[in-house]
Amino acid sequence: MVNVILLTVDSLRADHLGCYGYHRNTTPNIDKLASEGTVYTNAFAQAGNTACSFLSLIGGIYPIASDSFTDYEPFYPVHPDHFSTIATPFKGAGYRTLGFHTNPNLSTHCGYSKGFDLFSDGFRPSDDGSGGQADHRYGRKKKLRARIERKIAGTPLFPLATAVRDMMRPLNSLHVTADDMNTMALTELKKGEGDFFLWVHYMDVHVPYIPPRKDYVEVTGERIGQYRLNRLSRSMYDNLHHPDRIKRREELLGLYDAVILGLDRAVGSLVRQLKEADLYDDTIIAVTADHGDEFFEHGGVGHGLRFHDELLHVPLVIKGVGSGKDDRMFGLVDLPPTLAKAAGIDAASDFMGLPDAEGRKMVFSGSRHKGETIISIRTAKAKFIWNVTADMVEFFDLEKDPGEKVNIARKSKDAVETFREMANLHMQQVEEARIRAVVDSGLK
Ligand SMILES: [Zn+2]
Repeated sequence: MVNVILLTVDSLRADHLGCYGYHRNTTPNIDKLASEGTVYTNAFAQAGNTACSFLSLIGGIYPIASDSFTDYEPFYPVHPDHFSTIATPFKGAGYRTLGFHTNPNLSTHCGYSKGFDLFSDGFRPSDDGSGGQADHRYGRKKKLRARIERKIAGTPLFPLATAVRDMMRPLNSLHVTADDMNTMALTELKKGEGDFFLWVHYMDVHVPYIPPRKDYVEVTGERIGQYRLNRLSRSMYDNLHHPDRIKRREELLGLYDAVILGLDRAVGSLVRQLKEADLYDDTIIAVTADHGDEFFEHGGVGHGLRFHDELLHVPLVIKGVGSGKDDRMFGLVDLPPTLAKAAGIDAASDFMGLPDAEGRKMVFSGSRHKGETIISIRTAKAKFIWNVTADMVEFFDLEKDPGEKVNIARKSKDAVETFREMANLHMQQVEEARIRAVVDSGLK
């Protein structure tokens, strides 16, 4: 048997990696993994936001198959109980299964811990490096800072204090760093023996982008002061819903590439530690992302329930499986059965995706949220986005218009009708699969 590690990076778009042809050297370590396996050039997420995308990536189902949401956050869909997660077939085959993440969209409450022997849900490493223990010092510091900020908010002191602080030191990351995630994962991994499936989710590339200054300088080749860097990070985060207030696309891209460089360094560090522990050679390592981020391609920044390629086109690199580039269409929904198959486990019937994306000609994405259903279909040459509830269609000819700028739905009535039929058929098939799973789980 072989071990399998799945590394997922929040908000990492495919076209910013070296192995996908990016002009900056942002990902030397991921590129090295890619050189020892396969780069899937046409991998697409099933949604442009974390909550829905992970229903496919870890949950193995299409997002529209989930019809319930957590009671504490109506934006978080729940992975239904009667479906497996990516860990389930590995556990069934006798693997140790470990998962580490810090994203509230992916918590036990959302149904993602199924199949995992150890599921670490949003904590920092404790003194011995393991997970599962909240870092109270961090919490206290944050509380104290919040209390001070509350006291001076609204007074002339506040902007002055913020400006002085920005001149003095880097901003604190809002996320647990990839290095800390690696420490927790490896500490727990080394406690046991035998074959394992390990999933680690990194938040370093998610907004707010807060890179070390040296990483910004390295990727952009431009000098920048700490104050200016902090202001840029803040400006983007504060104006996520007012992109018109953010004007500096090039500098934003510099920030984004700098956080990618830092993440990639952590991946390199993980690889080094796996080699030192003699766990590298017999281990398949997949690297992918739940969605990308947009930089004004369609007017916005960040990510959400939108279906253009800047959000859906994700990197997928699998070290230890095949070699070179694979240009076939691949949906993240195909990843759970594909990784199981790579480890010699037949899990095709556990999931809605196809092992190795075998025979896939198009990728269906979509969401069902707040009474609104959206379906998109991506083929090698076209993109169809249908807001089913409002019956609004966008249709793009990707050969002539890879940026999806000109909606030709009105001029392409026959093609749109064909795509609409395929979308209807897809929704019907997902519903049938959902009902089958419910019935099967009742019969068990
Ligand atoms: Zn995400």
